[in-house]
Amino acid sequence: MIDFVAKYWETLPDRQALSDCKPGFIWDLVPKEPPKSPESWDKIFADIEKVVLENNTHWHHPHFFAYFATACSYPSIMGDILSGGIASIGFSWKSSPSMTELEMACVDWVAQSIGLPNLFLNSDEGPGGGMIQSTASDATYVAILSARARAVANYKASSKVAWLYSTVSKALPKFSLKEVLKTKPTEYAVDEEDPIITFENHDASVIAKLVAYCSDQVHSSVDKGIMLAGVKMRKLKSVVGGPLNNYFVEPARLEAAIKEDRSRGFIPFIYVATVGTTNTCGVEMLRPIGEICNRENMWLHVDSAYAGSFALCPEYRYLIDGVELADSFNFNPHKAMQINFDCSPMWFKDIKEATCYFNVDAEYLKHEHQAVAADYRHLQIALGRRFRSLKIWFVFRALGIEYIQGTLRERVKLGDEFAELIEKDDDFELFVPAHVGLVCFRHKSDNETNDKLVAVINNDHRIHIVPGKVHGTLFLRLAICSLSTTSKDIHYAYKVIKECLSKVLQAKNNVV
Ligand SMILES: *Cc1c(COP(=O)(O)O)cnc(C)c1O
Repeated sequence: MIDFVAKYWETLPDRQALSDCKPGFIWDLVPKEPPKSPESWDKIFADIEKVVLENNTHWHHPHFFAYFATACSYPSIMGDILSGGIASIGFSWKSSPSMTELEMACVDWVAQSIGLPNLFLNSDEGPGGGMIQSTASDATYVAILSARARAVANYKASSKVAWLYSTVSKALPKFSLKEVLKTKPTEYAVDEEDPIITFENHDASVIAKLVAYCSDQVHSSVDKGIMLAGVKMRKLKSVVGGPLNNYFVEPARLEAAIKEDRSRGFIPFIYVATVGTTNTCGVEMLRPIGEICNRENMWLHVDSAYAGSFALCPEYRYLIDGVELADSFNFNPHKAMQINFDCSPMWFKDIKEATCYFNVDAEYLKHEHQAVAADYRHLQIALGRRFRSLKIWFVFRALGIEYIQGTLRERVKLGDEFAELIEKDDDFELFVPAHVGLVCFRHKSDNETNDKLVAVINNDHRIHIVPGKVHGTLFLRLAICSLSTTSKDIHYAYKVIKECLSKVLQAKNNVV
């Protein structure tokens, strides 16, 4: 299989980035009934090419420019082989001590390498810490649920305090906030054998008052996370400008929304900031947004799924300026940092707080060290977890940070090179300036023409790109994805796009 994969990489440029397959192709290739007796491996092996490879999109093809990069490196694949080979499940320290502790050490390595403040380190004295989620979507969802629990706990504590003050005398005994904040199910009708219980920190009657905020440029996973958390959402309209001349939310707009919603009786509880939006790679102003969140008692979560990797280079540290004001931060080394999917580290300013909101202790999960050792199961939705830190451990050691920095700089350079071709071309314009390997551009006409252009390019199948849309304007996104993409491929992509444009314009003229 290793030889097969190695050969795949060698022959990758001879393939087409996008397959010609049509939905439902599988039913001609795979029998409807499962096999009753074993088949020879040779026979299975022979099917891989025609079932899997011929009908897939080749993300590492030099002419794949869609979405964002996804990482792949030799040491990272070794990590996945080892994880699959030893096949342990690491939900608690006891279930996999090396999985738990190597993860603690490796997320610290990543944090230090991108310049996160020490307060997020596992090895630091403070309450901060990190772990590896499977995806940015999961990280965002966990952040929203933690923020939701904190807001519910705070609301209940403050109404309890208010109630105590109003009913009991001023000479109240010392009141422990900690006791109130503990996740403990309230039982109703305790005389019943199967009582109905309410989880205090996840009480729907308070959740109904909560409002989450984010920019209108957030990734769809933020919409989904907020939707599944059952809270209200307010998307704030972004503006274009700032040092990157890209899209961001003005802090004053957030302040005004919070004020308005408090006067309506709602509770603002989280802002999800994006550093490197999927549409245009716009960056939010973490410092002023963080100051507002801290002051207003709101959780700040930072989604830096794609752009976060670039903070590995000192010249891109502006991306995370002000991150010390965040309650949680996440990015995907599985996008641009040479660590294969899935690997999405997430850091909390207070990892114990989040743990207490998700704690469900079953008898079979308890162990004698749980008071002192990390049990990462408390910070994710699933119980089971893979040995993902092996990939970080191998990649950082075998490739080294300087090499990875080089690949990141190369992406930026190639993106800038394509942007230059666009700028010199009278047919096209940049939608926003190129930023860390993403180029957003459009034909200087209407949405309809640009929409047709995207369709013609993708039907042509020589290169693959996807469109974006901001405030009603459609544009094309060219992301530097494959590490095998070179300057020659950038010029090739430009040539293909020009050819496709003449087809679109010709068809338009013919209709006229
Ligand atoms: C890619 C991306 C995501 C989703 O990442 P997953 O790890 O696939 O969930 C979320 N947010 C942003 C800004 C992204 O670019």
